[in-house]
Amino acid sequence: MRVFVATSATQGTRASDSMRCVDGELVWLRDVCPASRRRPDGPCECGRSFSGLSSNNYTTTAVVRDIPGLTRTEYEAALTASFDAQEWCPCCTSRSVEEVIDELIRLAGVFPAGAVLERRINDLNLRGSLGSGA
Ligand SMILES: [Zn+2]
Ligand SMILES: [Zn+2]
Repeated sequence: MRVFVATSATQGTRASDSMRCVDGELVWLRDVCPASRRRPDGPCECGRSFSGLSSNNYTTTAVVRDIPGLTRTEYEAALTASFDAQEWCPCCTSRSVEEVIDELIRLAGVFPAGAVLERRINDLNLRGSLGSGA
């Protein structure tokens, strides 16, 4: 299964870049708040960021990785554990785990393994590639 994981690759391409996740950790797409929707490069980072499942921190860059052994059940369990750690904050966890995982699988399936991506609110843009071994 193809998933998004945090990467430092291409950091610095934009002045608003930052990477505070653990390199290689699974990331998900948090809902974007109104302030960041208006100004994705503004003070709130959510509209330009992926969220780390373990670190609960943001990164503006992620890479598509193919993890053949990962099952949907395990993927959902990882996100559930992350939501548990966030105590199911109503604004951040407004969508169900199933819904978020559906979206992640669908979006990661669009790109080849190794694709380095940035987020602009609801769009993911290709920045480069680490090759399919990434
Ligand atoms: Zn925000
Ligand atoms: Zn929240």
